Amino acid sequence: MNEEIKKTILNKIKEYDKIIISRHFRPDGDAVGSTLGLQRILKASFPEKTILCVNEDYSDYVAFLGEEDTATDEDYKDALMIVVDTATEDRCSNKKVNLGKELIKIDHHVDIAPYGDISWVEDWRSSACEMIVDFYVTFKDELTITKEAALALYTGMVTDSGRFKYTETCGETLRMAAVLLDVGVDIVTLYARLYLEDFDYLKFQSYVYDHMKVSENGVAYVYVDKEMQEKFNLSHEQASNVVSMLSEIKGCIVWLAFIDNPDGTIRVRLRSRFVVVNKLAEKYGGGGHLCACGANVNSTEEMEALVKDADALVKDFKANNFYL
Ligand code: AMP
Repeated sequence: MNEEIKKTILNKIKEYDKIIISRHFRPDGDAVGSTLGLQRILKASFPEKTILCVNEDYSDYVAFLGEEDTATDEDYKDALMIVVDTATEDRCSNKKVNLGKELIKIDHHVDIAPYGDISWVEDWRSSACEMIVDFYVTFKDELTITKEAALALYTGMVTDSGRFKYTETCGETLRMAAVLLDVGVDIVTLYARLYLEDFDYLKFQSYVYDHMKVSENGVAYVYVDKEMQEKFNLSHEQASNVVSMLSEIKGCIVWLAFIDNPDGTIRVRLRSRFVVVNKLAEKYGGGGHLCACGANVNSTEEMEALVKDADALVKDFKANNFYL
């Protein structure tokens, strides 16, 4: 699928001596995994080229995947830029992406605001990493994958698919994951790194269950306000991850986390099963996937309005559909 675009991308990669790879800010496992994975494949395949992975922020969560690079303005001169896993240009963590000569977008989010000279978007993919593995498989006679690349890509595939349980997981996902396991990934160590929790964090989890709310028709939501963030000394990333604590409550088919941003706005993370919520996110100036998206609100009143809208959506859905 999309063979022509992939061929064009490979030809561009071959054409350039310098390639700079970037991803979205506030990176998750897929953003870091897909960029480091691509970088490692390209480095192993084209050792004569300079291939950098450059961004302006960092993720503790997947720091074990290794460090990214820095670049001077000179490095961007005549460079090919590849931006991965980033729906809109303004979400790119590297603010210098336009200093390069040409820009390629590779992404699995809905293409609401296309950018770049070449764009390869497959929004049905469970992760951007899956696309990078597909790219490798398509050209495996010309490309080389390493264990370090496989680890980065597998990390993104596992995290973005919720350990292969979200709706986008399909046969192709597992076929791509199998390619990585054949290269060699220590999954016991990887899962321990990703999913073991400190005891204190589990105590925080119990606090969240005590303080979350459920709306009349089954929207689970929690407000991770400044006070809660200070009480438990949470980083923004830890505060944001609270949304996943609400994901396995029977009957709560939409769940939301509201997180106080340092600038006074409130970040919203929307998640769902069965029911589609990205239109709701768009109503509040955000967007994203059908069942995993984000928005921002400016006040607790707006937060309540969003919960009310979500509740109406759930009510309507439950009246007409199967759910658990
Ligand atoms: P998050 O809750 O930040 O993990 O976001 C879930 C998905 O929605 C991600 O794939 C983001 O790219 C997308 N997303 C989050 N916030 C926004 C936003 N304000 N505008 C557009 N897309 C967003």
